[in-house]
Amino acid sequence: MKIHEYQAKDFFKSFGIPIFDHIVCKTPEEAVAAYKTLGVKDVVVKAQVLAGGRGKAGGVKLASSQEDVQKHAANILTLTIKEYPVEKIIVTQASTILKEFYASYTIDRNTKSVILIISAEGGIDIEEVAAKTPEKILTFSIDPFVGVPDYLARKFAFTLVSEPHQVAQLAAILKDLYRLFVEKDASLAEINPLVIDGDNNLVALDAKMTFDDNALFRHPDVLQLFEPTPEERVEADAKSKGFSYVHLDGSIGCMVNGAGLAMGTVDVIHLYGGTPANFLDIGGSSNPQKIIDAMTLLLNDKSVKVVLINIFGGITRCDDVANGLIKAFQQVKTNIPVVVRLTGTNEKEGREILKDTDFIVAESMEEAIRSAVSQTN
Ligand code: GDP
Ligand code: MN
Repeated sequence: MKIHEYQAKDFFKSFGIPIFDHIVCKTPEEAVAAYKTLGVKDVVVKAQVLAGGRGKAGGVKLASSQEDVQKHAANILTLTIKEYPVEKIIVTQASTILKEFYASYTIDRNTKSVILIISAEGGIDIEEVAAKTPEKILTFSIDPFVGVPDYLARKFAFTLVSEPHQVAQLAAILKDLYRLFVEKDASLAEINPLVIDGDNNLVALDAKMTFDDNALFRHPDVLQLFEPTPEERVEADAKSKGFSYVHLDGSIGCMVNGAGLAMGTVDVIHLYGGTPANFLDIGGSSNPQKIIDAMTLLLNDKSVKVVLINIFGGITRCDDVANGLIKAFQQVKTNIPVVVRLTGTNEKEGREILKDTDFIVAESMEEAIRSAVSQTN
C-alpha cells in the first residue's frame, strides 16, 4: 500500500526525521490561506498523488507571493499525473538546496534482508543514476539482529558527508528511518531528495513510503490512510464476488477457472503475440450468475477487444458450463467476440451445446488463444 508524501512526512516527523512543515489544501484559496499561515516568503506547492516523478510532470512549483501560490495551486489541481488526478496539494516552506542526496530502506530478496540504498546523486531519477552510473549508488544490507546502531549509522553517513554535525544529523536520520521502516512493516521508506539546506542542515524534502499489505492488520494507523486507486477498487469489488482478479494493460479479457490455468493462459497469450487485459480466476462453478458478474467485470474495461473463456472441466462439467454461458449471455449484451475453449469432463457435450451460437468455440488452448489474438489485430 502506498501513501502520500504528506502522510509519509507525518510519520517522518513523529520518528524525529527533520522535515519542513506543510499544510494540505484542496483549493487555490486554501493554498493562499496556507501561505499566510506558514508566514515565510518562499514556498513550494506540491501535488499529492500516489506516484513519483511529480517534479517532471509540473506538479512541484516554487512560489514567492500570494499570486504565485494561487496560480500554481490552481494549475497543479488541474493536472493528472500518471493517471492520478491531483485532488490534494501541499504548501510547504521552500528550502535552499546546497546538495541533494538519496536515501532509502527497502527489502532485498537476494540477501533476504533490509538494504539501505544511499547516493550523493539525489533529486533526479534514481533509476537513471542506477542505470548510467551504478558506482554512484551504495547499498548496505542490514543484519536484522544488529539493525542500525550508532557505529553503523555513522559509517554509512561518512560515505555522503564529512562535516561533523552533518555526519551526526545524517546518522540520526538513517537510524530513525530504519526504526520507522521496521516498526511500520514498510516495504519502502525513501527520501529523495534529502538535502543540505541553506543553514547547512539535513532536511527531507520529499518522502515516500509503501507498506507490506500482509502486515496492515497490525497497523491500523497506516491502514486508515488507504485510498484505493480506481484499479484497486475494481479488484476489491471482484474479490467480494469470489474472484481473484488482477488488472493488466492488454486487450484480451480472460475468464479462466483455476489460478494455474489463468497464469498459463496469460503466458500463452503473450507467446502468441497478444496482450492479456487481466488475470481472472472465477473458481470452479458453472453458476450463470458468476459468469454474468465476470463478464460485467471484463466488459467494464474499455480496452478489452475480445473475451477468452478458458475452462478446464474436472468436477465442474463442461456441458454445465456451456449451459451456464448460454443463460448468462441472454443477459449480457455485447458485440465483443467471445472465444470459448472447453476441455475435460463432458467437453464434447459442452461444445455441442455451443455449436450454433455466437460463441467462437475452440478445442485446444492453442487454437483458442490464436483465435483470440487474431481478433485483436
Ligand atoms: P518528485 O518529483 O515526485 O520526486 O517530487 P520532489 O518532492 O522530489 O520534488 C522534485 C524536485 O523539486 C526536487 O528534486 C527538488 O529539486 C525540487 N524541490 C522540491 N522542494 C524544493 C524546495 O523546497 N526548494 C527547491 N529549491 N527545490 C525543491
Ligand atoms: Mn522526490
